Amino acid sequence: MTNVIEVKHLHKAFGTNTVLDDINFTVQKGEKVALIGPSGGGKSTLLRCLIHLEGGYSGEVNFEGQPVNHASKETLQKLRQKMGFVFQQFNLFPHMTVLENITFAPKKLKIDDPKAIEAHAHQLLEEVGLANKANAYPQSLSGGQQQRVAIARALAMKPEVMLFDEPTSALDPEMVGEVLGVMKKLAADGMTMIIVTHEMAFARDVADQVLFMDQGKIADSGTATHIFKETTNPRTQEFLAKMM
Ligand code: ADP
Ligand code: MG
Repeated sequence: MTNVIEVKHLHKAFGTNTVLDDINFTVQKGEKVALIGPSGGGKSTLLRCLIHLEGGYSGEVNFEGQPVNHASKETLQKLRQKMGFVFQQFNLFPHMTVLENITFAPKKLKIDDPKAIEAHAHQLLEEVGLANKANAYPQSLSGGQQQRVAIARALAMKPEVMLFDEPTSALDPEMVGEVLGVMKKLAADGMTMIIVTHEMAFARDVADQVLFMDQGKIADSGTATHIFKETTNPRTQEFLAKMM
């Protein structure tokens, strides 16, 4: 098995507030990792460190064996292209159609010729169930549809890994399922995924590895069976009791 991501002794503080405290884990190719835990525990900061949206940390973050921390600007840009990021807020460009949203970055970075990029975009729209929305503008779509476009947009860069930060937290409840459905399909297709989520049933069903983060530490980790059935860690149990 190949390690796609390696995090060693990652430590990050905002001023005197330690937000990540000796974080260690690895993610193998094809693995699905769920990052769970109470609000303020450091989950978003950890994801942001992985793509170096957040700097000023100590320890190591390696992507496919290459350090992210001390990478040159060019290397960092290449590394970032391999990591798709989907946020809680969809952040679609409001003045662009769905198709333009999806093709903008791949065209700008010339990852393929424009025709191939557009064909790929249409294929991705098909896969997320929005084939008929290519020419729609974001504001005419529901939250669930916008988030599925955001997923297609990230996939258009042909990433090696997909990072999700609470992708369904901003959605009305009836739209959560359609987004989780797209993510489940992506998981089944073999994508390497790190997912911050409060959807415990989803984490239990999809994750190979679950990391429970609390107060900047990975307080508990293991298989979904370990975390959801077997753990004796009182903090994990207390958190899950509130969530389920
Ligand atoms: P989670 O995603 O698990 O809710 P976060 O990573 O967002 O946790 O936050 C962890 C801690 O870091 C919180 O105490 C938060 O207030 C703090 N924090 C996050 N971003 C910043 C920032 N840019 N400046 C100062 N403190 C921050
Ligand atoms: Mg967060």
